Amino acid sequence: MIEDFIRKIPKSDLHVHLDGSVRIPTLIDISKKQKLKLPSYTVEGLNKLLFKDNYESLVDYLQCFGFTIPAMQTPENLERIAYEFAKDNIAEGVCYVEVRFAPQFHVNKKMDFEATLASVAKGMERAQKEYNNSAKVKSGEFPPFYYGIIVCAMRAFGKGFSQYFDMFLDAHRYSDSTMVHALASYELAKATISVRDKLGLPIVGFDLAGAEAGNPAEDHKLAYQFAHKHFLHATVHAGEAYGPESIFQAITDLYADRIGHGYYLFADDKVADPEIENPKAYVRQLAQYIADRRITIEVCLTSNLQTNPSIGDITKHQFKKMMEAKLSTTLCTDNRTVSKTNVSKEILLAIKAFNLSGESLKDQLVYGFKRSFFPGTYAEKRQYVRQVIDRYELLEKEFLKKNKPVAKTGSKAAKDKR
Ligand SMILES: [Zn+2]
Repeated sequence: MIEDFIRKIPKSDLHVHLDGSVRIPTLIDISKKQKLKLPSYTVEGLNKLLFKDNYESLVDYLQCFGFTIPAMQTPENLERIAYEFAKDNIAEGVCYVEVRFAPQFHVNKKMDFEATLASVAKGMERAQKEYNNSAKVKSGEFPPFYYGIIVCAMRAFGKGFSQYFDMFLDAHRYSDSTMVHALASYELAKATISVRDKLGLPIVGFDLAGAEAGNPAEDHKLAYQFAHKHFLHATVHAGEAYGPESIFQAITDLYADRIGHGYYLFADDKVADPEIENPKAYVRQLAQYIADRRITIEVCLTSNLQTNPSIGDITKHQFKKMMEAKLSTTLCTDNRTVSKTNVSKEILLAIKAFNLSGESLKDQLVYGFKRSFFPGTYAEKRQYVRQVIDRYELLEKEFLKKNKPVAKTGSKAAKDKR
């Protein structure tokens, strides 16, 4: 069974939000204890009213976070949610995950930046230790579980987003909003580096999330420059709701090593800069540039369909074009609970919708490890990737013995020395 094979192979997830991946029973439990409002206090009720299969729009989708974030305001709750998140990943064979969240949604009068980041790391580490101490990992049969943390800055925010942002807005009430948003990102970059270096946490990346249209990436240049100078990797949610220039900006102004979604990369009709005379040529060159630099697109199929219903059908998703252009792509979940998915489901969806060949499947998997912001040395990263590929090839051989071909060995990504 292909489902069984997918569950067994070592997988990664480079784009997944912690606040979109809270277990539903945990959300109910915390909300009851802390008297937080939920549209329902049963799993069935929340699956019907909040965490739906299909959403009307991005706004509808984002509503979920208005209920999960309030349940993530103490060190204990953050640790529990991170621990359960890591356990859920491990249970489906995800052995490398980069968990992302926006600390400024959680920092409050009782929990500072340090406590926020340390609590998430504590939960992840507890699950990691439990798993890595198991006999199957210690024997070398299964690759160990590793994780990195990506902090998300917000492109924009307003009153009511969080206690921290409310205080921030109050303190800068006479400044214009663009400057305030830029300053909040800069403050986050500084706090992140300070906490990383003080506590030695595996904080590996800086991200920019939130409303893209009307809030250009270049506003956050200062924050990314600081992160870059301190060797924090960069990824940016870009081309999710805005055109190809947003992706260009992310790569050039913000030093992005990876792009979240990049959905409108090929949308020449969305090129807005009047100085770009030939949008079709621009898009072609941009795609080539991204491919050549091996900038990786974090593809989230289910999430894109949910937040952008105009795509309509999964087969119309731009993923096909991305693969045809030989881009480095890797399949991610975005939000395990809000999108009702996991990595195995995303892989299966891609195989079915795009008739993914065995070689392409292997490329997707290997890029997920190779283009990760692995928190160890380069030598350790290479050794880990080797272990993952060896495990994959072993399972592939077993699978091929019983079934028709899924994957040929020697894929492009496995050979790619970069
Ligand atoms: Zn995302």
